[in-house]
Amino acid sequence: MTDAPQAPAHDEAHGGALGSRLNWLRAAVLGANDGVVSTAGLVVGVAGATDDRATLLTAGLAGLLAGSMSMAAGEYVSVSTQRDSEKAALAEEKRELREQPEAELAELTDLLEARGLSREVAREAAEQLTERDALRAHARVELGIDPDELTNPWHAAGASFLAFTVGALLPLLAIVLPPAQARLYVTVLSVLAALALAGWSSARLGDAPARPAILRNVGGGALAMAVTHAAGSLLGAAGV
Ligand SMILES: [Zn+2]
Repeated sequence: MTDAPQAPAHDEAHGGALGSRLNWLRAAVLGANDGVVSTAGLVVGVAGATDDRATLLTAGLAGLLAGSMSMAAGEYVSVSTQRDSEKAALAEEKRELREQPEAELAELTDLLEARGLSREVAREAAEQLTERDALRAHARVELGIDPDELTNPWHAAGASFLAFTVGALLPLLAIVLPPAQARLYVTVLSVLAALALAGWSSARLGDAPARPAILRNVGGGALAMAVTHAAGSLLGAAGV
């Protein structure tokens, strides 16, 4: 559970709505990937120690719930904190606009000029923006945030919960549904296939080459399952 999906920040670089949608998608793939790897490691490990289906189901379900709730809680905390600091920055900006409007106009002019406008155009633009909605202009240009679109921590938490759960369901079902002799093969193969797909998707979403992303992702998952299975087998053999 290392890659907590980051709530999409205000990604101006990728241009507003599309960038924000891509960020959500990337976070969803990462969250699902986490659910696949951690639950697969868990159930494959327990399967090293026992053949009992009820035990496997209990372990897998507990892992699914613990993981998805930990992801959701972590996301809630981190987005709430981010939102609090954005609100504090907006309040500070509001106070400055009230107490020293001239200095704020000069500041906005400088910022726009730094973005490539000529001095006169920057001054004109700053005046118009200030007249229309000074706080929003400062929020966007100076702080890089949109005061109407602060990320909702509950939405971020729900999305994390859902993404992890969807990922975790795959190894959970793969370990409990097939007959006992086939369950390990079915789980390992379906997990590696899912990780290849997740690696490919995240590379595509990030405009990165697909092959290394797939290899890294599949390799990481394979390692996780190998380690937990070895540990589970040792414990099982020792009769713990
Ligand atoms: Zn300002």
